[in-house]
Amino acid sequence: MFVCGNQACGARWELDEVQIRNEGQGPVFRCPQCGARNHVEARTTRDGSTVYRQVPAKAAEKSPEKPAPKPAPKAPKARSKPAPR
Ligand SMILES: [Zn+2]
Repeated sequence: MFVCGNQACGARWELDEVQIRNEGQGPVFRCPQCGARNHVEARTTRDGSTVYRQVPAKAAEKSPEKPAPKPAPKAPKARSKPAPR
């Protein structure tokens, strides 16, 4: 569940009630009631589905562009091309 970060609004929304879009600074949803932008974080679960978690407004403001130092996952060595017959 998401909660609108606009204190005057504070509406609560289910995931299927909002539209999550990436407006250039990461995924956000606009509160359908007041139009405030609320940052969310997209995460891919192990089974491949995407889940969204709301990012508190303060945290989103404090970390403007942190250079995420995530280690590149080692890709398993792909098998070479199938040999032509
Ligand atoms: Zn709102």
